[in-house]
Amino acid sequence: MQTEKLYYLDPYLQEFSAAILRKTALADGRFAVVLDRTAFYPEGGGQPCDTGTLNKLTVLNVQTKNGEIVHTVEGDPGDGPVVGKIDWQRRFDHMQQHTGEHILSGVFLAKYRAENVGFHLSAATVQIDVTLPTLSDEQAREVEDAANAVIFANRPIEAKFVETDELAAYELRKAPGAEFEQIRLVSIADCDCCPCGGTHLRLTGEVGLLKIRGWEKRKNNIRVEFACGYRALADYRLKHELARSLANRFSSPVELALPAFERFLEKQESLQRELNAARKTYHEELATRLLNEVAPVGGIRIVSRAFAGYGAADLQDFAARITAADGAVCLLAAVDETAGRSSFLFAAAPNVPGAMNDLLKRSLAPVGGKGGGNAATAQGGAPTADADGILATARTMLTNEIAP
Ligand SMILES: [Zn+2]
Repeated sequence: MQTEKLYYLDPYLQEFSAAILRKTALADGRFAVVLDRTAFYPEGGGQPCDTGTLNKLTVLNVQTKNGEIVHTVEGDPGDGPVVGKIDWQRRFDHMQQHTGEHILSGVFLAKYRAENVGFHLSAATVQIDVTLPTLSDEQAREVEDAANAVIFANRPIEAKFVETDELAAYELRKAPGAEFEQIRLVSIADCDCCPCGGTHLRLTGEVGLLKIRGWEKRKNNIRVEFACGYRALADYRLKHELARSLANRFSSPVELALPAFERFLEKQESLQRELNAARKTYHEELATRLLNEVAPVGGIRIVSRAFAGYGAADLQDFAARITAADGAVCLLAAVDETAGRSSFLFAAAPNVPGAMNDLLKRSLAPVGGKGGGNAATAQGGAPTADADGILATARTMLTNEIAP
């Protein structure tokens, strides 16, 4: 006996009673259950399965296996009649996305002769692959407008079984699988007609809204990501709140938030240029002063210094000014107090004894830091804000090597 597919008779049926035809104990106390009738849609055609409960036990999965609809239940539902309840929020979401897929596919075909050759629906995303080499912003907007026009027209969606020899009377978006005797046709007037075994809404208006969220090239096709119904609302809400927060930060209306942000970035870049120029001047003066102050050890002048808020480029700029002097070595650090990290740059002028990469590795190893480079220049990092301690250790090690 075949399970009666209640989800075809009434895709809005949320609760039903049924008899158990067969049940099998699985690992971990779960049961595989076959019913005489079910409203649980098994995964298929790109639409995920329903979940819900059978006699208040969670239905974890529903799959078609060897022509049977098998419900995987968390426990033993007993032997008598069962009451099944499907997770309606999940199912309605699937119906919104899946019906939206029909509309979008119909529009792509009508406008650009582009076929839907792949459908993916998950909790995170809804995508179709269409046979187009490219898709412009303008084309995407046109498709989106046309799809939403079908939604707002609130057209009926019909599903019916037809014999294969009746198919010639229909203009189908895609050919049915050859293995079926009867074909289930799903049609939306003046939009789409195609064989489909999924669950659909009664009226296009229930899709609510269809928003294309993005697209990318996939081999010879375009993969279009979109959202329908409550997902489109959630997407709008997320972006609206983001836009509003951004606008509030700039005390501007939402429409003017982007220009305000661009002005902010320009200002930032201008300040950064000023800061870089000021640092170069400061580095020049500081390098001259420190090189004069430091007492040479075996003819070598070791300059060490920790800076706050410096990047790698700042350290390199200062190092270049030190190592331009004969017999000079610099042991530098940039401290990030917030992250509790420091980065290091050790550099030596030509002909200075000792290898900087070796010195850096030995200095950082005790605090779990790492570094690399060559004899003249080495860079690294350590998970500590106490850069002064590390620099002092390095200076002592280097001094002992130069003048033992
Ligand atoms: Zn369908």
